Amino acid sequence: MSAPWPRPATGLLEGLVQVVRPEFRAEVFCPPKDSQVFFRGPCRIPACPVAISYAARRLCEGHYQQWKQASARPGGADFTAWLAAEDQRTRQREVVAGCALEGCNRAAKSHRLCHRHAEHWMRACRPELAGWLAVAGYTPTWAGERDCQFPGCARWADGPEILLCRSHYERWRRVGRPPVNQWAAQLARLRDPHVRLDRLGRQLRLEVQFGLQCRYDEGVKLTAPRVVTRAVGWARRAGVVSLLDWTERQWRQFIDPQQRSRDVVALRFLLDTGFRLEALLIGQDPWADQYPRDTWDLHHLGLANQDVRYLRFGAIPQPWLRELVKRWCRWRLGRGIVPATAAIDVAGCVSLARHLGRTAGPDAPAAALTRAVIESWLAVLQTQRPRPEGRRHHIHSVGGFLKDVHRHGWEQALPAGAFVYDDAPPRQPPTPRWIPERLMRQLEDPANLARFPSQDGRVLLQLLMACGLRLKDARHLRFDCVVGDNTQAPYLAWINHKVGGRMAFFPLSDPLAETIAGQQRRVLDRFPGGCSWLFPAPRPTSTAANPAPTGASATSSPSGWSASTWSTSTAGPPG
Ligand SMILES: [Zn+2]
Ligand SMILES: [Zn+2]
Ligand SMILES: [Zn+2]
Repeated sequence: MSAPWPRPATGLLEGLVQVVRPEFRAEVFCPPKDSQVFFRGPCRIPACPVAISYAARRLCEGHYQQWKQASARPGGADFTAWLAAEDQRTRQREVVAGCALEGCNRAAKSHRLCHRHAEHWMRACRPELAGWLAVAGYTPTWAGERDCQFPGCARWADGPEILLCRSHYERWRRVGRPPVNQWAAQLARLRDPHVRLDRLGRQLRLEVQFGLQCRYDEGVKLTAPRVVTRAVGWARRAGVVSLLDWTERQWRQFIDPQQRSRDVVALRFLLDTGFRLEALLIGQDPWADQYPRDTWDLHHLGLANQDVRYLRFGAIPQPWLRELVKRWCRWRLGRGIVPATAAIDVAGCVSLARHLGRTAGPDAPAAALTRAVIESWLAVLQTQRPRPEGRRHHIHSVGGFLKDVHRHGWEQALPAGAFVYDDAPPRQPPTPRWIPERLMRQLEDPANLARFPSQDGRVLLQLLMACGLRLKDARHLRFDCVVGDNTQAPYLAWINHKVGGRMAFFPLSDPLAETIAGQQRRVLDRFPGGCSWLFPAPRPTSTAANPAPTGASATSSPSGWSASTWSTSTAGPPG
């Protein structure tokens, strides 16, 4: 599916300079440690402060490698025992070894002694160490001792003029003696996964920084630094100046992601960032940007939903007809029709336009669209689409289109007879939509319900069966969806999305009301601060921008719901 890129990125750099905040401007992006957009928490080794995002066994990369080595040894290793031992070892590694002389808390430099006492020992001609340690007492220096300034270090500094213990001093000296606090903070953050952006050109770097900022502000998608690093590598190898230099199709061809691999997630980051950059360019008037295009991105118009994102007019060969269909769609969308209906309408108009092209040539003017051409289209449609339902959609769409063009006077050259009358095939009586009783018995069987892989899914299914809701309506139930009438009988308050978002009510049995109350309690356990939804997303993130999830699950398979989940029970023998 190709988005309508590329577009000239004129003015993008200036726009980015204005919107990318300083905390996202660094050449090495170290995400905030507490951000649930970039991390899922710390490594499971208690002494290890490293943050993790995607992590096997919930270990940081370093510890995971250690575990792999330990488990590969002959006889393997018990994970729980290894965790405890590794925790101890991690604590040990953090501690700077001290001077062996009793009373001295400086860091050891050589021969287990600090810098000062090693000199004393050598001046004494290196006697046997244990014996020397027993007699050489500690005497304070004339200037006294001070603590090492490195956060968390318990040793003394290596002398009155030095801020750090020997160990930290050596490391600090090697990196060019930056301000100690800054260096310590940077050191701590560099242990967490981070993203290096220093090899990107200025514009590309700002674009990726903007993408990271958008993900952070949206607070919805997990954005693992490792995945962004992968995306950054591609962007660099692509040799583009801006992500907008390439279309979505070009990026997909270049990256060729394998299904379900991290490539897919990394590509998504690039494409999402591209979309945000486009929105930045479009500014306040998305219609002015989208209308002239042959493909409208409904996301930019704030109209896209899970069903439809793009409306494509490019398959209409005649420019005048394409323009009319666009004008009609914009007017209809403005009146609030759902994008899925608009997409069906466009498909009908494309069918007519192609037929007009075949019969009167691709340059056929409006005057060529006569009632005779429409009748020949109806005849062709009858052979192309034998099923009356599919044919009826096309005919109704074109009928509505022609009627609206006429009554608005949008095309004076259109023949007066260019109308669709009662040309659609008559509607067949609907087929029954009930589920066989034996299947319903299986579905309602508590033992089968208990097999559902998630609590959310189990409650959802009970609501679908008892109240006849559509899955989308059930998934978008508000947290406080149970209301009482004047006799306090419980009702489910839900929104019928198919019928213009109308509020609807359904009486609830007491057991089902209690089931919903149980679901509310579980949601409150997850989100003590409250949540808008009865079925929040399985893995929501929360940032300062999104203190609690405000959207229901966006996955197509929430709560373990899938056809395969139930295939065994529906295929089973009659109960
Ligand atoms: Zn770790
Ligand atoms: Zn010492
Ligand atoms: Zn120290």
